[in-house]
Amino acid sequence: MTKQIRKTNKSTNSKHLFFFGGGKAEGDQTMRDLLGGKGAGLAEMTSAGLPVPPGFTISTEVCTLFYKGGNKVPISVEKEMKTHLGKLENLIDAELGSSEKPLLVSVRSGAKFSMPGMMDTILNLGLNDDAVEGLKAQTNNGRFACDSYRRFIQMFGNVVLDIPKEAFEHEFDGIKSERGMIFDTDLDEIALREVIDRYKLVITRESDFEFPQDPLQQLRMSRDAVFRSWQNPRAIEYRRIYNIPDEIGTAVNIQAMVFGNTGDRSATGVGFTRNPATGAKEFYGEFLINAQGEDVVAGIRTPQPIKELESVMPQAYKQLREITSRLERHYRDVQDFEFTIQDDNLFMLQTRSGKRTGYAAVVIATDFVTEGLINTTDAVLLVDPGALSQLLAPVFDPESWHQLPVVTRGLPASPGAASGKVVFNADSAVSWANRNEPVILVRKETVPDDIHGMHVAKGVLTATGGMTSHAAVVGRQMGKPSVVGVGDLRVDEESHTMSVEGRVVKEGDFISFDGLTGEVKFGQIETQPSEILQVLSGELDAKSSDIYQRFSILLSWAKKIRRIGVRANADLPEQADIAYKFGARGIGLCRTEHMFFGEDRLPIMQRMILAETEQMRRDALKELLPLQRKDFYDIFEAMHGEPVTIRMIDPPLHEFLPKREELMVEIAQLEFLKDKDEELKNKRELLSRIEQLHEFNPMMGHRGVRLGVAYPEITEMQTKAIIEAACMLSKDGKSVVPEIMIPLVGHVRELKHQKAIVDRVAAETMRVQGCEVEYLVGTMIEVPRGAITADKIATEAQFFSFGTNDLTQMTFGFSRDDAGKFLPAYRENRILDQDPFASIDVDGVGQLVQLAVEKGRQARPNLKLGVCGEHGGDPASIQFFAKVGLDYVSASPYRIPTALLSVAHAAIRYSQK
Ligand code: PEP
Ligand code: MG
Repeated sequence: MTKQIRKTNKSTNSKHLFFFGGGKAEGDQTMRDLLGGKGAGLAEMTSAGLPVPPGFTISTEVCTLFYKGGNKVPISVEKEMKTHLGKLENLIDAELGSSEKPLLVSVRSGAKFSMPGMMDTILNLGLNDDAVEGLKAQTNNGRFACDSYRRFIQMFGNVVLDIPKEAFEHEFDGIKSERGMIFDTDLDEIALREVIDRYKLVITRESDFEFPQDPLQQLRMSRDAVFRSWQNPRAIEYRRIYNIPDEIGTAVNIQAMVFGNTGDRSATGVGFTRNPATGAKEFYGEFLINAQGEDVVAGIRTPQPIKELESVMPQAYKQLREITSRLERHYRDVQDFEFTIQDDNLFMLQTRSGKRTGYAAVVIATDFVTEGLINTTDAVLLVDPGALSQLLAPVFDPESWHQLPVVTRGLPASPGAASGKVVFNADSAVSWANRNEPVILVRKETVPDDIHGMHVAKGVLTATGGMTSHAAVVGRQMGKPSVVGVGDLRVDEESHTMSVEGRVVKEGDFISFDGLTGEVKFGQIETQPSEILQVLSGELDAKSSDIYQRFSILLSWAKKIRRIGVRANADLPEQADIAYKFGARGIGLCRTEHMFFGEDRLPIMQRMILAETEQMRRDALKELLPLQRKDFYDIFEAMHGEPVTIRMIDPPLHEFLPKREELMVEIAQLEFLKDKDEELKNKRELLSRIEQLHEFNPMMGHRGVRLGVAYPEITEMQTKAIIEAACMLSKDGKSVVPEIMIPLVGHVRELKHQKAIVDRVAAETMRVQGCEVEYLVGTMIEVPRGAITADKIATEAQFFSFGTNDLTQMTFGFSRDDAGKFLPAYRENRILDQDPFASIDVDGVGQLVQLAVEKGRQARPNLKLGVCGEHGGDPASIQFFAKVGLDYVSASPYRIPTALLSVAHAAIRYSQK
């Protein structure tokens, strides 16, 4: 989801309300900033002549004004609202609060980006003691009128006045049991009138407020409550997770009510034009006879599959199919719609682009092209780059999957293999996950407040709810395996147990489920790489994997569109190989120090670091040289002639040494033992050297270019290894252009110093090898001074690669190793909208990047520019890097598909401007 908000040119208008009805609308689909997604969709459907109950949208700007005005809308908006209400009343010849022809409205939120279930809604507004009689007369159904009234009082009390639902449920259940009734539907009109009286008393008791009989007052209070719900904790949390800006606000839609609960010829439902979990071309969704819309989304009753509507209400079903196919063609995207059938008449209540899994996104985009609905550029834009990672997520190992019996099954809401320990509430999910435990969140039904638990869980399982319940919608969006509506699952949240037909599972026990089939098993099951990875590793034939073929065709379209390159951050040949197979063309960062973590190499590396004399260091380096040469040869070869950027050693050296404190403990223990003198002596010497090398702030200490300056023999050895490997390759008839990169440069003279060594050793090595190879010398820009003096540095550097990890660290002054401790508080307090180590801080760090690009290119027009910090694989950051004119981004191997799609998105976006 993009965080950039386009300001519409209508944003300065003084018009704040937009009418829709009678085949005409004041808004349209381009006005999502102002009308929110729901408002824009209602306007567009109305203009297209679809059956939409009329109403009006109060714009998102009013939300901003509401908060600015101390939770009050301006007087001018109150006036505009009255005018629009009058227009609505005229259009349908009904009046709010009338005892003859009462108008009832719904009041719903609707932000630019959908936030399912996070904000509030009020239905049946306009009912009071008079209007309820009008509704009874009009529908000839006293029970229905009274039931609508009591629902309204309850919703109003809960949403507007913050009275807990239980206070109402308590009265409701009381009346049921006093009258010996079992089901809600057993309550007749007389009983419901008593419920209404008691509900009014609840309101007075719990809020010091009389339930307002004035419908205009009801409307104002409800509108304000919906605006307030923009700032409720779950909406804030949702925006934080999905990077939705706080300032955009929500619109409020006020719309004439239609009723799906007038009897057996009425229904309400939600659906998708394609299967949002698998992408299959099938009409998909569910409905409930004789119910109101909220009953379906809240997941309280498990609804019927939408196909069954065909036999119950064939006419309405046919019309619904026609309308929704038309909507899909019109919007050229899968639609997620809501409808109500009132006495056999169909009404459309909402349409919007349907959220889908990464798997479905790829299937839908490729199918749409085959069906001629869109072209390949649209198809590339239709897939969210971040969602591609879901296709690489693990699946169950079929052997271990078959070893356990299926215990139960539910609705397959979001695909993927999930295996973990059961927890029963969102807070436990978070605390267990913080201890690195894989958790499965099991709930009777998930409510929007569970969002933080769902976020950290490996999967979500619920007992009730349908494919479009909150758990299903949010699970899919997060790419979280989810199974919902497991009918025979009993969840006891109090005793922290669940059971299926008497088989009990306690908190902490393992369960596993498959989000694609809905099957649930008790126990732990091994997972294995996804189909795509299996094809890449040669275990599976590409022809027998439909999803692999679609995935690769989509990426082939992206590669044609993109304007900038995608390279990989890879330190080992296997990583380079997988990155190349995904489509990376070149290595943007090979961290040479990572080549030394192996058991056989670490001791040599340690000897090199701990050496007290140059000779000792040279001896250790001599041993490292052949190992490096082989590594370089293999990695060059895996990139098939594409450029490979090799960075000279840049670790804070302590990363390779034994920990000082641990060594002290070992020495203390040895002191008590006999015959350990030799070992003790060695350890003491080691400790003393480690203490000499100890740095208070290693991240800003002796690392990067500073190592090469102090110990030029390191730069010499690495250069020699690189050039020898390149010569060997060249002699083998293969080509490579090594790009030798000096890290952490802040001053041009640092680079000049190192470059002189590189050039000298390269020339010598080539002479000895009798071979000429081309190579470049460049630098990382990762300290602010480097960016600020980029023009000077570019006089020496043939390329820059932005090391945005360190650049973020140094610009904010946040330690990249410690920021995890305080960044959550920064995000909670909205000091930062996102983790700057994950997504580039455009206003600060980004400005340094932009400055360095401009200055660098001024000094050296053909300067090669790339980025190799983690941000090189983040879709939002990639848009920024493409915009400022980098030549390539470099990402870790498994993020290459995401990076490829992101650079294609950037190419399309910026060519449209
Ligand atoms: C960087 O700082 O962005 C970078 C890529 O280098 P490293 O993460 O190895 O410090
Ligand atoms: Mg760095």
